[in-house]
Amino acid sequence: DDAASRYLSKNPLSFEQHNRARQSMPGGNTRTVLYCEPFPITIAEGDGAYIRTLDGHEYVDFLGEYTAGLYGHSEPIIIDAAKKALDGGIVLGGHTQLEQQLAELLCDRFPSLERVRFTNSGTEANLMAMSLARATTGRNKILVFHGAYHGGVFVFAGGGSPINAPFEFVLGQYNDIESTLELVREHASDLAAIVVEPMMGAGGCIPAKAEFLQGLQDAATDAGALFIFDEVMTSRLAPGGLQELLDITPDLTVLGKYIGGGFSFGAFGGASRLMDHFDPHKPGSFPHAGTFNNNILTMSAGYAGMSRVFTSEASRELNQRGENLRHRLNEICKAAGVPMQFTGRGSMMTVHMREGEIHSPKDAAQANSDLRELFFLDLIDAGVWLARRGMINVSLPMRDAEFDKLCAAVEEFVSVRKPLL
Ligand code: PLP
Repeated sequence: DDAASRYLSKNPLSFEQHNRARQSMPGGNTRTVLYCEPFPITIAEGDGAYIRTLDGHEYVDFLGEYTAGLYGHSEPIIIDAAKKALDGGIVLGGHTQLEQQLAELLCDRFPSLERVRFTNSGTEANLMAMSLARATTGRNKILVFHGAYHGGVFVFAGGGSPINAPFEFVLGQYNDIESTLELVREHASDLAAIVVEPMMGAGGCIPAKAEFLQGLQDAATDAGALFIFDEVMTSRLAPGGLQELLDITPDLTVLGKYIGGGFSFGAFGGASRLMDHFDPHKPGSFPHAGTFNNNILTMSAGYAGMSRVFTSEASRELNQRGENLRHRLNEICKAAGVPMQFTGRGSMMTVHMREGEIHSPKDAAQANSDLRELFFLDLIDAGVWLARRGMINVSLPMRDAEFDKLCAAVEEFVSVRKPLL
């Protein structure tokens, strides 16, 4: 329709770029999530809360690199820290003070972390946490949830993925404690871990009920399995992550995204009785390698960001602003009387084209996906960049002007598209 044809006519250079990229990368793509029909727009640069495309259009960046873009594009403290680190050499091949500083800060901030180890991505960190659970319990099964996302080889939406890591997964229903407890009972003697996002991120910003998480923790403990929080996205929702807000301390926590200051990052950590299996002092300790685990850009930018920019106070403030924004957006939907809502917590939210409570990906799947596609196209036409799946993330450089722009675009959408909604 009109929205699709405007997309084509506004982005001729991105189209050309896409065709060129297809010559060397399958589908012109190296991150599946960034592909879309008929072709994805090429980003040229970013500044503060804004991005500009190859075709010269400017957008408020509400995609925020799927939560990794918390600091925006040009936070001076991050840039200074990275530059200073670069001045001291790039690949040092040894322990540095930088990695100890970041590790110490993370252990101070996140209640479950007594010890932590770094990786290059959240995917890799989940792989390590699940492998640690298998090695310490001597069991093979991992309980995860339908619709969850724990990385490129841990996709549990739809029918899963043929290239998922070959763990023995058992799939539960998110926020449904009764059926999950049944699964735990059925598999108890083989269960190595329960892995859960305390709010589903990619699955649609669906918060877990506190009783659900508490029930999972009790069941894991009773079964002798580890309870693992994947806080790759949710760690930004409070100074000590959602675990602090919910007052639940998992055995292991997986981190990622913004914590590296915008550079590639992953980490897993938890109780020292578990993590000390990686202590090389100890006979029979587990190996854990990774050339870039302690790379100086991630370590320096991560430490500068968490210690001087995204302080506990800044975390609380950002998430309060996100909470206010989500309420404002929901008021717009309510006032227009359209079946549409924004779920989430704090600085993360996702639009769903339906009314009624959403507690699981199954609930979310009842919404109209064509309308969500139209929402995406209309919003980018209005200068608002967001995830195609309807996810919106608030970043630190955003102020009222950016929030007003988003709200105006949503108001326009609900009034113009009301007959379709
Ligand atoms: N876990 C969750 C909850 C995520 O949202 C993601 C990424 O979106 C990952 C793990 C994987 O992290 P990465 O993309 O750094 O491999």
